[in-house]
Amino acid sequence: MSLKQELEKRSNASCELCSAKEALFIYEIPPVSEVSADNSILICETCKSQIENPDTVNVNHWRCLNESMWSEHKPIQVLAWRMLNNLKNEGWPQDLLNMLYLDEEDLAWAKATIETENDEPVLIHKDVNGVPLEAGDSVVLIKDLKVKGSSMVAKQGTPVRRISLDPDNEEYIEGKVDGQTIVIITKYVKKIG
Ligand SMILES: [Zn+2]
Repeated sequence: MSLKQELEKRSNASCELCSAKEALFIYEIPPVSEVSADNSILICETCKSQIENPDTVNVNHWRCLNESMWSEHKPIQVLAWRMLNNLKNEGWPQDLLNMLYLDEEDLAWAKATIETENDEPVLIHKDVNGVPLEAGDSVVLIKDLKVKGSSMVAKQGTPVRRISLDPDNEEYIEGKVDGQTIVIITKYVKKIG
């Protein structure tokens, strides 16, 4: 029996994700070294093209996972997990994801292709002397700073306690001066305490 025949038998010749009966393709779930029924599934053109071109995803199409994620077959579970994970910001996919239990090995497989957030460079906020700053630190201003959008000037020597860090920009921190939260450039502060 060929792989395609094997998958057609397993799937009843329908898309294993959305049950469509149209033309079906073998989709190998990456990363794959040797293709078998254990790491491939049969899917329709619609599912295939949206998996391969994430920009074209029609979120509602993937409500089909509501059913197919309960498949007993691991490759289907894994692919369902990946799609739900990609779409989780939509809300309902996150809810389904919470219900989809994979054992440790399968979860590792499901996560194998994720470009993790850990790959992003970690931002390190540093003061004028290159001393790393952490949220909650106290700093002192080393020069008079005009506060954007107001006539206020934060004076040199002003302490700013319990700063928070801009998660997207290592040159900015936030802190309260005169009861007002302002954005401060890290090179104009010195860590104290
Ligand atoms: Zn499909």
